[in-house]
Amino acid sequence: MSLSMSLEGKRGLILGIANRHSIAYGCAKVMAELGATLCITYLNEKAKPFVEPLAEELGAELLLPCDVSVEGELESVFHEMEKRWGTVDFAVHSIAWSPLDELHGRLVDSSAEGFCKAMDISCHSFVRMAHQAQRLMPDGGTLLTMSYEGAEKVVDHYNLMGPIKAALDSCARYLASELGEQQIRVHSISPGPMPTRAASGIDHFDELMEDATSKSPLRRLGTPEEVGTLAAFLVSDMARTQTGNRIFVDAGRHLIG
Ligand code: NAD
Repeated sequence: MSLSMSLEGKRGLILGIANRHSIAYGCAKVMAELGATLCITYLNEKAKPFVEPLAEELGAELLLPCDVSVEGELESVFHEMEKRWGTVDFAVHSIAWSPLDELHGRLVDSSAEGFCKAMDISCHSFVRMAHQAQRLMPDGGTLLTMSYEGAEKVVDHYNLMGPIKAALDSCARYLASELGEQQIRVHSISPGPMPTRAASGIDHFDELMEDATSKSPLRRLGTPEEVGTLAAFLVSDMARTQTGNRIFVDAGRHLIG
């Protein structure tokens, strides 16, 4: 086993870059710097002009459209990776979505339709990603997703995303169990609040960031690149005995009530 944190020779998928502030971009940047070869996706034609220059900068070999709510798009990303690479070493799922009115309302008032759409895009798409990935990971690999502290504690204004992230964490554990024999490792990462596009949809998000800064033991917010260094470690051979973890990158905020 190499003791350096190189990702040379590893190929992987990054789902969820919207712009330079995205947590997925922080992951892609660190992974590319460590030598990984990347497939990057963009949500739709409107998003493409923002993602394309980043993909070029990162030297991504593949840039493909992927809206997980459009039937067949996630599957074609895996087909393209199979055609180009044959196998894949890791896949990072860094996407979340909810109808805004549902996100801004109480869980108790959420509609079945809104809840299910948010659950499908933010959680079950990770299961579908794992389903596709297992075929391209005959000798093992790593799957990562992004959770949040609101999964286990009630965080004001996080509303229906709390239970959805709890389901996502649980999916990561079950997938780790089901895919472990194939040496596929699965983790959820739990970043603290970071100012991204998705985060701007949460009411009073600035208060959440102030709270994290003042109450976290390290008295600071984390950055997408700091999530990236953990993600890079987890997909590297150095973490090959680890699976099924939920790991915080939040300056310790989760420790404090
Ligand atoms: P972001 O807005 O940069 O990224 C969210 C991504 O989800 C975007 O790229 C968007 O295109 C993608 N997405 C939405 N609907 C999609 C669909 N139907 N198909 C494919 N992609 C879709 O925001 P972010 O904060 O980087 O979010 C990434 C992940 O990190 C999310 O799971 C989020 O819940 C999680 N997270 C964020 C924070 C934070 O404070 N920013 C904290 C903890 C966890």
